[in-house]
Amino acid sequence: MGTLSLAVNTGEHYDVIVIGGGPSGSMAAIAAGRQGARVLLCEQYAFLGGSLTAMGVGPMMSFHNRANQQVVRGLPEELIERLVERNASPGHTLDSTGYCSTVTPFDSEGLKIELETMAREAGVRILYHTMLADVILAEDSIESVVVCNKAGLTRYQADVFVDASGDADLAARSGVPFQYGRAGDDATQPMTMNLKVANVDMARLRQYVNDHPEEFPHGTPEMVNRSARVSLGGYVNAWRAAQARGEISVPREFVLFFETHVPGVIIVNTSRIQGLRATEPFELSQAEAIGRQQCVEIFQFLRRYCPGFENCVRMDTSSQVGVRESRHVTGLYTLTAQDLMDERRFEDVIALGGYPIDIHSPTEGITNTTHLRPDIAYGIPMRCLLMEKPANLIVAGRAISATHDAAAAFRVTPISMAIGQAAGTLAAVASQARVKPNRLSYDQVRPVLLRSGAYLDHVRF
Ligand SMILES: Cc1cc2nc3c(=O)[nH]c(=O)nc-3n(C[C@H](O)[C@H](O)[C@H](O)COP(=O)(O)OP(=O)(O)OC[C@H]3O[C@@H](n4cnc5c(N)ncnc54)[C@H](O)[C@@H]3O)c2cc1C
Repeated sequence: MGTLSLAVNTGEHYDVIVIGGGPSGSMAAIAAGRQGARVLLCEQYAFLGGSLTAMGVGPMMSFHNRANQQVVRGLPEELIERLVERNASPGHTLDSTGYCSTVTPFDSEGLKIELETMAREAGVRILYHTMLADVILAEDSIESVVVCNKAGLTRYQADVFVDASGDADLAARSGVPFQYGRAGDDATQPMTMNLKVANVDMARLRQYVNDHPEEFPHGTPEMVNRSARVSLGGYVNAWRAAQARGEISVPREFVLFFETHVPGVIIVNTSRIQGLRATEPFELSQAEAIGRQQCVEIFQFLRRYCPGFENCVRMDTSSQVGVRESRHVTGLYTLTAQDLMDERRFEDVIALGGYPIDIHSPTEGITNTTHLRPDIAYGIPMRCLLMEKPANLIVAGRAISATHDAAAAFRVTPISMAIGQAAGTLAAVASQARVKPNRLSYDQVRPVLLRSGAYLDHVRF
């Protein structure tokens, strides 16, 4: 048997290291950089955006609650303003499914460029093609991370680490306890391979919705006629018939799709892969293959049976299957669905949200939604980002300390970005104050967040 030799290079010391450049990690890195921290951002792909770019997710949903009050502002809102300025998004538009009040379509190439520009302006050092390999712990903290890329293994030290990997990879490697999916059976929301198609005849599609409203449980002709970009869930009769004939193996109730920034280009968010874990390499690989195969069925279905899609062309399936859920770390506080429904007031609120509890069934062909009060603005407490050990680790995005049900609400990209902004701000403030993040007073973080435009107060609109 050969000898295993693991040579590890030593890299520079940073104030803050962020693992994962998705919506939450990008915002965390930019926020920390703007506070003057020396930031290293490690991302496994060659671009930022995470689910919004690598997993083909869109639109961002939603910056508003159902009463159309904007509850996510700050850095995520600045991103949208910049995308609109560069003609890479129409901004917040009516959600024609009626699920939310608004959706925010965008051009994914434009998003990659804008996030990179904002990171560069904030002085963030980006390391692409770089994956977390290991962690070195010292006493109650993370001393350094070991990353893997073309240079082999390199060890980087920092004062504070932000885990924005979505799957809480860094936290898990650091021994932080977590709940996988939902309590009881550890089942997660399904994965979905998003399919992007172009050349959809939007006029014909709109006409079909007007003529056959009963086919569209998510969306009405009135909303479809008013919206700048169409979002819909439907073609339900054709879908059920195709399922009965064995042409469709996807365990879900209808076709769900969203027009992007580019008219006639549509994200089809319909495939559904259940029972596989995104953090198990072979299961993730299996999910990629199943998802792509389901997209073959979906594409054929669209062209054959869906008026408007007859001449559509396939652009791509996403670079990676979309992962809705995996680990939820157990932090200083675990957010519950009841907290959201009660609009519980936390004294350490760092972000607000208004999106409903949206659970794609882990085991069945249904989607369960709990709509909250229309003018809700539920709070996310700072303690959900922190844990007893490691003292210098902050978790951002969908993996923060919360139950399966609560995460099903705040997991969406606008709220994940707001959490990311808070995580980066907290990291920079802690590094500058030479205090471990979990010992930092909320009073030191709140004014900085407010100054950078974050929206925190449970105001009655
Ligand atoms: C199919 C699907 C549809 C969805 N639909 C919508 C929607 O319509 N609107 C909406 O707003 N939200 C939607 N969501 C939810 C939303 O996309 C995610 O919950 C959100 O992006 C979470 O952000 P994040 O930053 O926590 O994680 P992610 O977006 O997953 O980003 C994590 C980043 O970390 C990187 N990374 C992961 N592990 C490592 C590692 N070990 N080392 C280095 N880098 C790593 C990844 O490459 C990625 O860039 C959807 C999600 C899915 C899966």
